[in-house]
Amino acid sequence: MHELGITQSIVEIAERTAAKQQATKILSVTVEVGSLSGVVPEALEFCFEACTNGTLLEGAQLLIKRIPASARCCDCSREFPLEELLACCPDCGSAAGELLSGEELRVKELEID
Ligand SMILES: [Zn+2]
Repeated sequence: MHELGITQSIVEIAERTAAKQQATKILSVTVEVGSLSGVVPEALEFCFEACTNGTLLEGAQLLIKRIPASARCCDCSREFPLEELLACCPDCGSAAGELLSGEELRVKELEID
């Protein structure tokens, strides 16, 4: 389950950031998860408690912000939502699209004490 490794990295990033700000406790972590990132938000939530035991994040809330995927057509410039990675433009049918969002996986915000 690769969500475990991802959750551990989230915890590491959060701890490092908090240490820089001399925080003693992290109250919540906001993580952005794009719909094409391959990460299942529920699995992150599932791993979070186990990964935060004994860290600055113990008892912290994991807030997951889901980012819907979108693309811009390279031919007609229309922006459209992406359900899957290989989708064609709904207007002109072009397969040449530029990904605008959906691959995000990052720690967006920390609430520290
Ligand atoms: Zn198009």
